[in-house]
Amino acid sequence: MPNSIDYYLTNLQTLACIGTRRDKFYKKLVGERFVDLLWHLPSQLCFRHRIEHIKDALENSLVTLEVTVELHQPSLRKRAPYRIYLRDNKGQQFELVFFNAYASFLQKSAPEGRKIAVSGQLKKENNRDGVRFQMTHPDFMGPIDEISKWVGAERIYGLTAGLTRGIVASAIDQVLENAIELDEWIPDSKYPSFLQALKMAHRPQNYDNLAVTDIARERLIFDEFIAYHLGLALSNRRQKFVIQKFAAIYNLANQLENSLPFKLTAAQKNAIAEIRCDMQSGEQMVRLLQGDVGSGKTLVAVMAACDMADNNLQTAILVPTEILSRQHYSSIGKIIEPLGLEVALLTGREKGKTREKVIEKIASGVAKVIIGTHALLEDSVIFNNLGFVVIDEQHRFGVEQRLRLSQKAKSAHILSMTATPIPRTLVLANHGDMAVSVLNEKPAGRKIIQTKVISVDRLGEVVEQLTNVMNRGNQVYWVCPLIEESETSDYAAAIARYDMLKGVFGEKVELVHGKMKGPEKDAAMERFSSGEATLLVSTTVIEVGVDVPKATVMVIEHAQRFGLAQMHQLRGRVGRNDMQSFCLLLYGQPLSFQARQRLEIMRDCHDGFKIAEHDLRLRGGGEIVGTKQSGIPKFRLSDLLQNEPDEAKALEDLFAKAHSIAMETLKEDPDLLSPKGMALRQLLVLFEKDKGEQLRKSG
Ligand code: ADP
Ligand code: MG
Repeated sequence: MPNSIDYYLTNLQTLACIGTRRDKFYKKLVGERFVDLLWHLPSQLCFRHRIEHIKDALENSLVTLEVTVELHQPSLRKRAPYRIYLRDNKGQQFELVFFNAYASFLQKSAPEGRKIAVSGQLKKENNRDGVRFQMTHPDFMGPIDEISKWVGAERIYGLTAGLTRGIVASAIDQVLENAIELDEWIPDSKYPSFLQALKMAHRPQNYDNLAVTDIARERLIFDEFIAYHLGLALSNRRQKFVIQKFAAIYNLANQLENSLPFKLTAAQKNAIAEIRCDMQSGEQMVRLLQGDVGSGKTLVAVMAACDMADNNLQTAILVPTEILSRQHYSSIGKIIEPLGLEVALLTGREKGKTREKVIEKIASGVAKVIIGTHALLEDSVIFNNLGFVVIDEQHRFGVEQRLRLSQKAKSAHILSMTATPIPRTLVLANHGDMAVSVLNEKPAGRKIIQTKVISVDRLGEVVEQLTNVMNRGNQVYWVCPLIEESETSDYAAAIARYDMLKGVFGEKVELVHGKMKGPEKDAAMERFSSGEATLLVSTTVIEVGVDVPKATVMVIEHAQRFGLAQMHQLRGRVGRNDMQSFCLLLYGQPLSFQARQRLEIMRDCHDGFKIAEHDLRLRGGGEIVGTKQSGIPKFRLSDLLQNEPDEAKALEDLFAKAHSIAMETLKEDPDLLSPKGMALRQLLVLFEKDKGEQLRKSG
C-alpha cells in the first residue's frame, strides 16, 4: 500500500501553526488528524470588496483599500483603545481601533507617513461633526502589494473558543498544499478526485458551492456515505450458516389459511412468498418485515412458523412486553392449536413448576411455537430444534438482547417485525444489509380512523360522547401520558383519570399501568379484551401490538407530549374492524409550535410511512417526552436530518446510492483485495470505519 494515506493521518500537532499550544482547540473543533481538519468545510461565505473611497462602502461591509497612515494614538489609559488615524486616497479620514494592542507591532506594520493596505469591516458612526468611519481590529493590514489577496469570496469556518477565522483557514491551506492524491475508490465517475474535491470545497466562489449538491461537496459526502455502508456491512458480516434442509410442504400453512374467516392481503401473500424463498435458499434468512399497525404482520410470521413445523422445526417469537406476549399466546394459540401445534409461553412471570414444565416442552420439542419476552434468552432455555426466530417490534429491543438472540439462534432464520414504518434512509442506516418485506396495505374494509384534535377543556363533552360509544357495545382506550419526573409519576395520572371515569361509568372501567403486578395486569387486560370492561385507562404500556377488535375509540390525553410515531402506534389500536373508529387527541396548554404541528400531522395523515418521515424530521427538536435518538447516524460532512427539503432529498438519494455501490462492491470483491478494494480500504481508514472484523482478519 502506498503510504500517501499516512499524510492524511498525521497528527495536527506536527503542524507548526498548531503545535501543542493550539491542538486542544483543534481537537475540540475537528479531531486530531490532518484529514479531520480537511473535512472542516466552510460553513458560510462572505465577499470582500476593493474600494477606492471610503464613502463608497456600504455600512458593515467588508472592504479592502489603500490608505496613508497619519497618526498613532496609543492608549491613553488602561482599557482605552489604541487608535491609528488614516486617510484614503481621496483624503477622507478614518481610524483603526485596537483593544489590548501590541504597540510595537502596530508601529512596525503601519508606520506613520507610509502607504499601506487594510481590510476589514467598516463601521459608520454619526456624531456632531458628521459621519465618522471606523474599522475595529482589521482582518488584514500590510504592504500594498498584498492587496489583491484580500478581495473576493471568502470562506467562513465554524470556530471554537481559542481559534479565529484566519488561523483556521491558514492551517487548512497548509495541510491542503502538501496533500497527495490517493488511489481512486470511485473510478469513472463524474466527480473530481478526493483531493481535488477537498481543494474545491475549501475554495467556494459562490453560494451554490456551499450546497450539498455542489460537485466537490457531493463527492466528499458520498465518500463518507460509502465508507459508512461498507463499514456497516463489514462489521455486520455474519458467518454464513448452512441451514438445515427445508422442504416446501406448506401443509399446515394451507390448512391455516383455509381456516381463516378472511383472505390474506396481496401484501401478506407476497411477504410469505419472499420468506419461503429465503428459507429454501439453504442460507440463513435475515429479513425485516415492515408494515403499518394492523397490516397483519403476525399472521405472516405464523404462516412461516407453520412451514417450520411441517419440517419439524421450532419457532420462537420474541416480544417486548408481557401484555403482548400473553395476547399473542392466546390469539396465535387459537388459530394453530386446532392444527395440532402446541404453543408455549415463557416470560419472567412463569416461575417454579410452570416454568420447568415450559422449559421441558421447549427442550423436548413438544412445543412447536414458543412465545416469550426476553426470558426466552436465558441460558436455561434450550431449544430442541430451533429453526426460526421472530422478533416482534424489533426496535424495542436493545443491542445486547439482539446479540444474545443471535447467539441462541445461530443457525435459525430471523424475521424482525416492526409496526413503526421506517423511512428508507433509516432502514439503510441501521439494517443496510437486511432484506426487507413491506406490508403496504391493510386488510380490506378497514376505514380511516377519524382523528380529532380537542382541547382538554372539553373533557366533559368527550366523556359524554363515550357513553354513546359504549352503549353501542364498542370499547374505548384512554391513554395517559408519561409525565416528567418532577411531576407526579405516569401511573399516578392514569390512576387519577381512572378514578374519575369510574365515577361516571362504574364497573365498566379498567386500569393498566406499568407498576401493576403481572397477574393484576393480566386480569385487567382480560376483562377488557373479553368485552366485560369497555373502557381501558392505561399508560403507554398498551402502545405495542395490543389487539382488541371491538375497540373503536382511542383517547390520548396530553397528546402534545407524544411523538408522532408513538401516537400513530396508539391510534393503530383502534380501526381493527369494519366500523368507523375515532382517535381523540386531547391537548393541554401551553402548546408549542412543534407540538401543534405534530397534532395537525396526526389529524391529516394516516399513512404510517409519511408519518415516519415527518417524525424523523421533527425529532431533531428533541422536545418530545421520551424522545429516542433519531436512529440516524451523525455524519461529519452532512446531516441527513436537515430540514431544507430539496437538500434533504438529495442527501437521501445519495445515501441510497452509496448503499448500492457498497453492496455491489462487496459482492464482487468481498475482502476488498482488488485495486479498487484496496483504495476503498483507505477510505475506510480515513473515516475510521475500518474496524470490521472481516477486514482485520483478511488484511
Ligand atoms: P400488526 O401488523 O399491527 O401486528 P396484527 O398482526 O396484530 O397487526 O393484525 C391485526 C388484526 O388484523 C388481527 O386481528 C388479525 O387477525 C387481522 N388480520 C390479519 N390479516 C388479515 C386479513 N388479511 N384480513 C383481515 N384481517 C386480518
Ligand atoms: Mg403486531
